[in-house]
Amino acid sequence: DVVVLRYGHRPGRDDRMTTHVGLTARALGADRVVLPDNAGQSAETIRDITDRFGGPFAVELRDDQRAYTRDWEGTVAHLTMYGERVQDVDADIRANSVDDDTPLLVIVGGEKVPFDFYEAADYNVGVTNQPHSEVAGLAVFLDRLFDGEELEREWADADRVVMPQETGKRVVDPADAYDRDEE
Ligand code: SAM
Repeated sequence: DVVVLRYGHRPGRDDRMTTHVGLTARALGADRVVLPDNAGQSAETIRDITDRFGGPFAVELRDDQRAYTRDWEGTVAHLTMYGERVQDVDADIRANSVDDDTPLLVIVGGEKVPFDFYEAADYNVGVTNQPHSEVAGLAVFLDRLFDGEELEREWADADRVVMPQETGKRVVDPADAYDRDEE
């Protein structure tokens, strides 16, 4: 399992960013996102998207991010601009998570991340060593972790499936969507 943990959430100000951390985790192959317990509104939006566009994907609200990280049985990767270069450590992280079925916890911050998380992490990973966004960092990290295979994924229990179009929008019933290979 790949679980994304969001540290910190300022209600109001961070609502969109926290929602986008969850939506990006879902779209790019993670199994679950763990949000701070004051991010209920973001959790609701992510669950609503999962109900409509499919899963499986779980959203959990917790108030014990530190203990959760400390007690994690598996590999921990913390995304930070101060970390090792993603291109130097991605193969190693993949070998110690998706390749050998070890659960992976991916931590992204919002507000300032306490030093405990740097110490608890098996890998502190920089997607460039430039300051940018947790959503962008997470997207690049997950794509490298899965080596692009997450882009081929199909979704279960969707109400609707978007069919890729050169122009315009086409949304179909799931029963009509996933038999493209057999046609
Ligand atoms: N100023 C905060 C600090 O020093 O901890 C970080 C703020 S930053 C907008 C929020 C989050 O984006 C960080 O906690 C980190 O997870 C992620 N992030 C920003 N730049 C990154 C980078 N170059 N590589 C990986 N993650 C990054």
